[in-house]
Amino acid sequence: MKLALSPGMKVLKPPAVTPTGTKLASRTKLMLEPDSPLVLIIDDDPVDRVLVTESLADKGFRLVEADTATQGLQLIDELRPDLVLLDIMLPDIDGFAACSRLRLTPHGRHLPVLMMTGLDDVNSMRRAFHAGATDFVTKPLDPALLEFRLRYLLRATAIADELRHSEALLASAQRIAQLGHFAYVPRRGFSAWNTQTHAVLGLAPEVWITTLEDLLQHVAPADRPRVCDALTACEGGDEPIEFSITDSSGATRTILQHAVRERHEDGHRVIGTFQNITERRLAEQKIHRLAYYDLVTGLPNRLLLERLLADMLAEADRAGEGVAALSIDLDHFQRVNDSVGHDIGNGLLAAIGQRLAGCVRASGRRGPSDLDGANRVDLVARCGGDEFCIVLPGISRAADVEQVAQRMRESLQQPFNVAGQEFFVTTSIGMAMHPGDGQDAETLLRHAELALAQAKRKGRDRCEFYDAQLNTRARARLSMETNLRQAIGSEQLSLHYQPKFSVATGEVVGMEALVRWQHPTLGRIAPAEFIPVAEESGLILPLGEWILTEACRQLAEWRQRGCRQLRCAVNLSPAQFRDRKLPALIARILQQAHLGAEMLELELTESLLMEDVGAAQLTLRKLRDLGMTLAVDDFGTGYSSLNYLKRLPLDVLKIDQSFIRELRQDSDDAAIVEAVIAMAHSLRLGVVAEGVELDHQLEFLRALGCDVAQGYLFSKPLPAARFADWIAGRPALATAADG
Ligand code: C2E
Ligand code: CA
Ligand code: CA
Repeated sequence: MKLALSPGMKVLKPPAVTPTGTKLASRTKLMLEPDSPLVLIIDDDPVDRVLVTESLADKGFRLVEADTATQGLQLIDELRPDLVLLDIMLPDIDGFAACSRLRLTPHGRHLPVLMMTGLDDVNSMRRAFHAGATDFVTKPLDPALLEFRLRYLLRATAIADELRHSEALLASAQRIAQLGHFAYVPRRGFSAWNTQTHAVLGLAPEVWITTLEDLLQHVAPADRPRVCDALTACEGGDEPIEFSITDSSGATRTILQHAVRERHEDGHRVIGTFQNITERRLAEQKIHRLAYYDLVTGLPNRLLLERLLADMLAEADRAGEGVAALSIDLDHFQRVNDSVGHDIGNGLLAAIGQRLAGCVRASGRRGPSDLDGANRVDLVARCGGDEFCIVLPGISRAADVEQVAQRMRESLQQPFNVAGQEFFVTTSIGMAMHPGDGQDAETLLRHAELALAQAKRKGRDRCEFYDAQLNTRARARLSMETNLRQAIGSEQLSLHYQPKFSVATGEVVGMEALVRWQHPTLGRIAPAEFIPVAEESGLILPLGEWILTEACRQLAEWRQRGCRQLRCAVNLSPAQFRDRKLPALIARILQQAHLGAEMLELELTESLLMEDVGAAQLTLRKLRDLGMTLAVDDFGTGYSSLNYLKRLPLDVLKIDQSFIRELRQDSDDAAIVEAVIAMAHSLRLGVVAEGVELDHQLEFLRALGCDVAQGYLFSKPLPAARFADWIAGRPALATAADG
């Protein structure tokens, strides 16, 4: 017999002779339908056996006979019959014992066993029942009845098998889903609570759960009212609930409970499931953490900041309060990473984050469920590389915001110790206030960042409030940036050359290349306007590379045409100077133009060199090794320390034009210039005065022993063609006055 739900069940092809050598009843040959049920008759009385086989003949059964219990049990194991007819009186062991025994075998457990008892033998019937018989027939057998007795039994068994099978399926599905079920009636406690339910909750077998109190003992105190409500409320409460329980190992599990309630004689009954969703929740938390938090500092990231800020602004609007956003940038943080590596850099960032969090009211890490709460708590987030952001709700006075900002700057000024190294950090802070400086989170943050950019432009290490005009300027800058991007490499850009003269002899000793930008519609744009934009946008790198390439190309061209060979100075921006690839880049450009490095002079501003003397020293040495001349530009405008300057491999010092302009007998500037020249000479540096416009300035410089002069007095910066003509028209040796 083949069960609908057991496609894998073996279909028996009855062998002519069984493995044990028992002969199959001769009648079986008539009904070799392989699907017809196989019936095993265990009876030592041949007459009874014949009676059975006779009455079942031609009824669609296959029949096997055994005359002892031992043989019968063996056949059950080998042939797996679908039904057993078992006599009580057997020569070896009695039918009751045989029945009990076969119930212990894998195949015999659910096998329908029909015991043959004597009529009115109630005692046998009872014993048969206890031995596990499925049913009984009384002897003498009624042939007509027997067939249907068997058929009913087989059908009932098929249904039971099916049920067992689907229960097994359900149980494994529940096991896989970590799902357990239960029924609960308030007055009676739990029922239908099985080992799987127990396993889902992680409870040891010896833990006993029958009442609600039994369960609540294991539930987290905060969740108890919820669990209690869900089970005891007479109506409603059909939404799933989640609660935490402590399992028998002491670990916390998150359980999801689904339940429905139905009417019951005792009021109502709740039928529900428990599901262990601990891992799912942990994974969700991890994803949440990755999505919303910065791994280095553990602080909320920009995404979370924006969401929380939006909520805070809505809340503040309801309460009629202000909110301040502070954008904080660590000055020159890139250098930390460059010099000590990312690991220590990250350690420093984490320490900074911690210190910032310590400056505000209860903040720092928030749980995932806090996305829409705690709107009145200060918030510290990391918004990017070395940028932090702080949001202060419930603050409306600029003075208060500034006070917090100052407190932060002061706190960060205390040295940091990371991996045994000491770090000093200064910060620039941009501040914007809601509602005045931004209605929504995005605008408010953008304006805080604009204010930050302004603070950086003003020389860093300071705080700045957002100023609406900044916005207009920012826009103008943005469009300039776009224009400049297009200009690089086009004929809009060119280089002009301004000659430099020996103060003593009036001879031209070199020139400075200065970039010029002629925009098709905006006209000429001054370098003082676009160089800062190029620096902030990073465009200075391609622009600077173009300038170096163009200057060298021009020098090479002049040399080919037999013009006089003069050293050309090129201005370098801080970003270019910090670019590690700079020495290699210059070497390549020189090589491509077939120029010697002695033809190139690099002008570096004093403030750039002082920012990080150690790093500057290294780069300068590399450039010097290539054979270039190195000059300090705009000298006197920064805060050079002579001690530092001494350590740098430099050749030339260019005194800033502001000193030259005011150069008169007895002026302060005269004293300064005199001191600078003396000092430079003592360090064996050549001195160039720039911005020389008037005769008396030149006279003065000559008297002070200045080496080289440059300025409108001699020539304005000239386009390449005019510069070449100008040089060609000059005698090799002449005095400046003749020029
Ligand atoms: P800087 O390097 O100090 O350049 C000297 C500036 O003074 C130039 O202005 C030059 O035209 C101007 N100048 C020369 N002689 C006189 C004079 O007698 N009187 C007055 N009042 N000014 C004089 P320019 O070309 O407008 O450049 C301004 C600044 O822009 C430069 O200052 C430099 O910092 C930057 N710059 C110009 N060209 C480049 C370049 O190719 N690369 C880089 N990185 N920066 C550049
Ligand atoms: Ca210069
Ligand atoms: Ca200068």
